[in-house]
Amino acid sequence: MLDEYEIPRQRMIQRLREHYKIKDEQVLSVMNAIPRHLFLPTALKSQAYADNALPIAGNQTISQPYIVAKMTELLELSHGSRILEIGAGSGYQTAILSQIARSVYAIERVPQLAAEAQERFQKFGIHNVVLRCGDGTLGWNIYAPFDGILVAAGGPIIPEPLLAQLKLYGKLVIPIGQDTQSQRLIRVTRTEKGFMTEDFGGCAFVPLIGEHGWK
Ligand code: SAH
Repeated sequence: MLDEYEIPRQRMIQRLREHYKIKDEQVLSVMNAIPRHLFLPTALKSQAYADNALPIAGNQTISQPYIVAKMTELLELSHGSRILEIGAGSGYQTAILSQIARSVYAIERVPQLAAEAQERFQKFGIHNVVLRCGDGTLGWNIYAPFDGILVAAGGPIIPEPLLAQLKLYGKLVIPIGQDTQSQRLIRVTRTEKGFMTEDFGGCAFVPLIGEHGWK
């Protein structure tokens, strides 16, 4: 794909590979193909490929490219995967997931963001995403169980319904923290012996607001 942001986008990929040690070539190639600048308000387009999160509508943010890459990599997707995403926001992370997984079920609580993301999926011809507006901490029972669940907002505890909706060997990637300012990036894998938890370091997300999140 040739566009005016091709060079900054290639630099972003180089940074993800060399500085952030993202190893999954499929994640890198999809991030090189999806035009991140088209998920941002017009005034911020020129910053789309910078190494940070950026503001979108409703006081929310589009996650830093590194966070998008890392969370996607941690899900260990395959072409058959069915994924639940909580906090679709701009739809950028959703679009990345949609190019690797079989289907993505996405939930966003801010109606304006959900509507804009929906328009983008239409425009880009992304047809394997089902998006709804609502509280994602309850999961999406009718489509469960999932091979992977990605939560793009930080809550105080791991929402119980999300654990219940995870397949055996399925992975849940979620930022968890006792205050709203900082979290740890956690991956939970469902095994025969129960849930196994790994910690991938500090991070900062907007708050996960809902029944099993912040009130
Ligand atoms: N991946 C998105 C990140 C958006 S920020 C992107 O890159 O654009 C996190 C999003 O989570 C916000 O849009 C916020 O509105 C949403 N959110 C917070 N709590 C939620 C909940 N309980 N259910 C669904 N979405 C939620």
